[in-house]
Amino acid sequence: KQTIDSPIIIIGSGYGGAVSALRLCEAGKKVVLLEMGLNWEKSGIPFSNLLKPGQSSAWLRKKTIAPFMNIFSLTPFTGTLDRMEFDTINIWLGRGVGGGSLVNGGMAVTPKESYFKEVFPNLDAEKFYSHYFPLVQEELKVNIIDEKFLNDCPYYKFTRVGEEEAHKAGFKTMRVPNVYDFKYMEKEFRNEVPRSALNTEVIYGNNHGKNSLDKTYLKKALETGNLEILDLHCVDHIKLNDDKSYTLNVQQIDTSGKVIADKIFNCKKLILSAGTMGTLQLLLRSNAVNNLPVHEKIGKNWGNNGNFMTGRNWVKPLSGGTGSKQSTIPVGGIDNWDDKEHPFFTEIAPLPMGMDVATALYLLINRVNKKGEVGYDRINQKLILNWDESHTANMKENARYFIRKMNNANGGTRSHFLFNNGFGADICYHPLGGCVLGEATNEFGKLKDHENLYVLDGSLIPGTIGVNPFVTITAIAEYCIENLIRQNEFS
Ligand code: FAD
Repeated sequence: KQTIDSPIIIIGSGYGGAVSALRLCEAGKKVVLLEMGLNWEKSGIPFSNLLKPGQSSAWLRKKTIAPFMNIFSLTPFTGTLDRMEFDTINIWLGRGVGGGSLVNGGMAVTPKESYFKEVFPNLDAEKFYSHYFPLVQEELKVNIIDEKFLNDCPYYKFTRVGEEEAHKAGFKTMRVPNVYDFKYMEKEFRNEVPRSALNTEVIYGNNHGKNSLDKTYLKKALETGNLEILDLHCVDHIKLNDDKSYTLNVQQIDTSGKVIADKIFNCKKLILSAGTMGTLQLLLRSNAVNNLPVHEKIGKNWGNNGNFMTGRNWVKPLSGGTGSKQSTIPVGGIDNWDDKEHPFFTEIAPLPMGMDVATALYLLINRVNKKGEVGYDRINQKLILNWDESHTANMKENARYFIRKMNNANGGTRSHFLFNNGFGADICYHPLGGCVLGEATNEFGKLKDHENLYVLDGSLIPGTIGVNPFVTITAIAEYCIENLIRQNEFS
């Protein structure tokens, strides 16, 4: 087996991994980043769109795995979108250099300050809102759509209809910032550049327009000359050595998923940024394989960020419905967070199916009143999740209330076209928690019971943040790595 030594290794190239890589490289540290997914930019393979799923559309599957309308058969390929399946919930994940930033909708939402304080009572909220959030908005290239373009563009009819209906039902709406470059989108609309958001590209990757992490944090980190990214390198498990260093068992795969090399990596310092589910899998599997110490809080305080999908059919069919042409980038939201009885935020989501289906799709984000727990099944060697209908009861109640109010004011029915009973309780895009900051780790993400092991990703957030999470994940990672470097953890 090939053995490679590196002082610092990061596992995973999503938000936590990209921030850690940049700040360590800027501090002059040599870093190796292991990513199980493909380096799409380097490969030169284009991403496919929603209407013609191809190589990028699924991680090693024979069929597409989008939340709706899966009729496409595939030759297994290391695509960008993966799904972890449990009895009561399916969790979608991004794979590739850039992690979730490749597949996500780019919605860049800063949490409400009052909720941030409730979720993280021990953090200095003032510092986050004056420093870390503005910093990550700049690094991630967050921008806002021009109102005139939004009002004129036929591709945003679904947003205009959604907002109009929400107002009629007495709800408050808000503009949602994004990392998709809206100036680029305006050029797409004028046919001056190749189309991406206006060509149904999103959850299988965007060929243009979207400032995913490979265009921001990771690009800057590579420019320092201190970062090496090894793609298609999947870490199977990690071992704590007697001298407190770590040994990683890694499988290098080709794009069909075949193992082409078994490798050993040794490092003094290890950062786990494999995403909430990836990091929990690595820790719990390593514990099962070689007794890696795991603190009792690992796996606890997990949540789906209150994700709950729902939809309405027969939305304004006489006046042309929600539009046959739809941008894939959401820019509208309904903010009902301050309602004591039914607190939720919902994205007015696109449904770009190439025809007008007179259907509105909503991804609600609710409070998580009851947290779940992640464990490990040693016999079948996979994660198990304590999560059932009782965990989503308040979310269903909010969705029911929301749809009823919208339908009473505007007509329409709950969407049985999209979901079995009109509710998608089992769809999760935002798994969070399980290695919560200050519970399973110290105040800056260093794992308890370890001297050289850190977690920097969504698993630090205790199951809920009230809005789409990547801005918060990025800001927490900035905060942690800055302090870890200041404390000379990596010298
Ligand atoms: P990730 O971004 O998940 O990165 C983890 C990386 O680690 C991945 O690249 C993975 O391949 C790699 N990895 C995992 N295990 C291993 C291993 N064993 N070895 C090597 N590599 C490994 N959030 C928003 O804020 N706004 C949105 O609009 C939005 N839309 C979304 C739409 C979809 C379809 C999905 C799936 C998610 C969306 N999200 C959105 C959620 C957001 O993308 C995630 O919260 C975010 O990416 C999590 O960041 P992370 O750093 O924790 O990990």
